[in-house]
Amino acid sequence: MKALVLEAYGTFAYRDAPDPKPSASDEVLVRVKAVGICGSDVHGMDGSTGRRMPPLIMGHEAAGEIAALGGAAAAAGWKVGDRVTFDSTVWCGECVACRSGDVNLCDRRKVLGVSCDEYKLDGAFAEYVVVPARILFRLPEGLSFARAAMAEPVGVAMHAASLPRFKPGDSVAIVGAGLIGLILLKIVRNMTAGKIIAVDVDPGRLETALAFGADAAFDARESDVVARVREASGGRGVDVAFEVAGATAPIATAVEATRKGGQVVLVGNASPKIELALQSVVTRQISLLGSCAIAGEYPAALELMARGRLDIDPLVSAVAPLSEGAAWFARLYAREKGLFKVILEP
Ligand SMILES: [Zn+2]
Ligand SMILES: [Zn+2]
Repeated sequence: MKALVLEAYGTFAYRDAPDPKPSASDEVLVRVKAVGICGSDVHGMDGSTGRRMPPLIMGHEAAGEIAALGGAAAAAGWKVGDRVTFDSTVWCGECVACRSGDVNLCDRRKVLGVSCDEYKLDGAFAEYVVVPARILFRLPEGLSFARAAMAEPVGVAMHAASLPRFKPGDSVAIVGAGLIGLILLKIVRNMTAGKIIAVDVDPGRLETALAFGADAAFDARESDVVARVREASGGRGVDVAFEVAGATAPIATAVEATRKGGQVVLVGNASPKIELALQSVVTRQISLLGSCAIAGEYPAALELMARGRLDIDPLVSAVAPLSEGAAWFARLYAREKGLFKVILEP
């Protein structure tokens, strides 16, 4: 098969790779029809995260058709030709976390298209990928493969939105208005009548946030950004802040813009460590909630998109052939303005 292989840090080759085959009875071979480039792939391709050790086929946001399957997968009701997407997390289904529905916290959690010290799992920037049948989700009729590939980022945003306690009039700050932040904004817009305030360093993203229903949008680099968010939320600070960048400065903005007793949901994790204003968190009794991946939100994410209740099309910047993947990675790596999701088609 053809695959886009990360050959060395920062270097791709679109080349022949061995055809993967289902090796266990509960595995399926998926013919990939669409696969999104994730920010974690773009950040990881230079080696800075330690989770994309080459050679590797990355890619964990995909949709396609079942091309072959083992006996147990067939017995579970799957058949050749089924249109599917799959969880970016390969969870075991047997540990305590999995059995309680927290598959994102699986003790044996692996992520497709990741290679790190503990494991290597080739992903979906290829014509075919093998996954266990338990992580498959059927595509609703009429939902295109390219849209279905967005189920992963939509699921990430839905999971984050599910964590804080929300009242109907709560005010919300979204710090980091990239792809996930903007999807979160659309989702949260349907959860509260309160003010929603976006913060980012990119004026184009702030404009998109306003178009997506934010009541206000502020440039993170302005020195009084915290005061402006507080003022826009009525003076005390927002009830809930989502931090979708993952670095010291934006996390400080999210914490300081949140009212006493409020909640900060931490979604971004670009930096392994940050500096935190501990006393501001403790003395104002701020709840910090980490949000990891997706725990069962896929079917709802697919339904929302299939019914046209969540329009993510403005966030799909390009749909291009997989053979042109290296050039798109380069543009994303260079932080080209206005680029959100790029979807590749093998
Ligand atoms: Zn992703
Ligand atoms: Zn598990």
